[in-house]
Amino acid sequence: MTNSETTTIFGVVLKDEDATEFLKTLGPAPACQTCGKTDWFELVTSPEEDEFLSIRTTNTGGQVGTNHIPIFLSVCDNCGHTRQFVARPLTEWVGDGRPK
Ligand SMILES: [Zn+2]
Repeated sequence: MTNSETTTIFGVVLKDEDATEFLKTLGPAPACQTCGKTDWFELVTSPEEDEFLSIRTTNTGGQVGTNHIPIFLSVCDNCGHTRQFVARPLTEWVGDGRPK
């Protein structure tokens, strides 16, 4: 997968490595619930530099909405099982100077 090197969410420029470092501040990597390995990589960036990963909203009529919630993914390097995180806490952590 070829991704751009950075993406900007809520005005904060992010690299995939930022999400990896952020998750390390929260504790040790959990075992993958599918295969049991503990090797994960994170995806914040998308193939296009001016885009980011997100969940789209849906309106009450069931049609695609106009809003989105930025997310990042933590992917098991062995089996591809994916954990999904709302990006707001990551952007706040980077914006606050990456407190330990
Ligand atoms: Zn796995």
